[in-house]
Amino acid sequence: MAYLSDPKETIAVLQRYRFMFQKKFGQNFLIDPHVLAKIIDAAGVTGDDVVLEIGPGIGTMTQALCEQAKEVVAVEIDRNLIPILTEDTCRDYTNLTIINEDVLKVDIEQVAREHGGRPLKVVANLPYYITTPIIMGLLEKRAPVESVTVMVQKEVAERMQAGPGSKDYGALSLAVQYYADSYIAAYVPPNCFMPRPGVGSAVIRLTLREKPPVEATDESMLFAVIRAAFAQRRKTLVNGLGNSPEVPCTKEEATAVLEELGLPAGVRGETLTMEQFAAIANRIASGK
Ligand code: SAM
Repeated sequence: MAYLSDPKETIAVLQRYRFMFQKKFGQNFLIDPHVLAKIIDAAGVTGDDVVLEIGPGIGTMTQALCEQAKEVVAVEIDRNLIPILTEDTCRDYTNLTIINEDVLKVDIEQVAREHGGRPLKVVANLPYYITTPIIMGLLEKRAPVESVTVMVQKEVAERMQAGPGSKDYGALSLAVQYYADSYIAAYVPPNCFMPRPGVGSAVIRLTLREKPPVEATDESMLFAVIRAAFAQRRKTLVNGLGNSPEVPCTKEEATAVLEELGLPAGVRGETLTMEQFAAIANRIASGK
């Protein structure tokens, strides 16, 4: 069994199976051993860990994860990749389970339950077309996950880390920061993948928090207010809240809430901190 982090091996496997890349699945396979080492290092996988890998591709990262983790569960949507993994690149690993499925349809809680019951470490070079639904799905459903170490489009990693006042600040920044601490472990140029993506990439590690950084009396209201604030970025928060079908308040009531909290009537969501969003949501949820 050959290690795929050597690009020559990747090419040999692709030729052996006459593999055709499917653009619709976001298939950009990693071909740089240094980047692979950085992801594995940032993920901090140990022999006690059960890892969920999303999109193993031909198994480049899967091999490294199987060597370090107690168990690896790899979810791959493309059925053409399954024989490559099971008969070839990962055939010798007895600690690997491969699931041929769309990860958005997989019950992560059940995966954790069936593999020892402890929270999982998620590690992936994500398909970029569904980065946000995958990450938000894991966070919002409070999936039993300890950390998420993933390669994503560089701009998406920066949006996750952005703060108030930055053009990148938005609903994704607030959601990620509510559920997790994060850091960018590496920036990765297009030439580290085959085929090369049209965008730069970054490896980001999210470590799930035990407790959110703000107290929201009604979490769903907090996220409804955040979505309303950023749904129409150019509009004021009062307009966003008043127009949102998810937030039960009129423009007049929204104006009164902002006034009570000492915020200007024309404030925009992009300048507010998470604490201010929580105060607004708590006030609306209290219905007073
Ligand atoms: N991990 C491999 C690597 O680093 O070389 C492949 C990464 S590639 C960027 C993304 C992988 O995710 C592909 O193998 C693709 O087929 C798979 N994929 C795409 N959409 C998926 C989905 N909804 N569920 C599971 N896997 C998916």
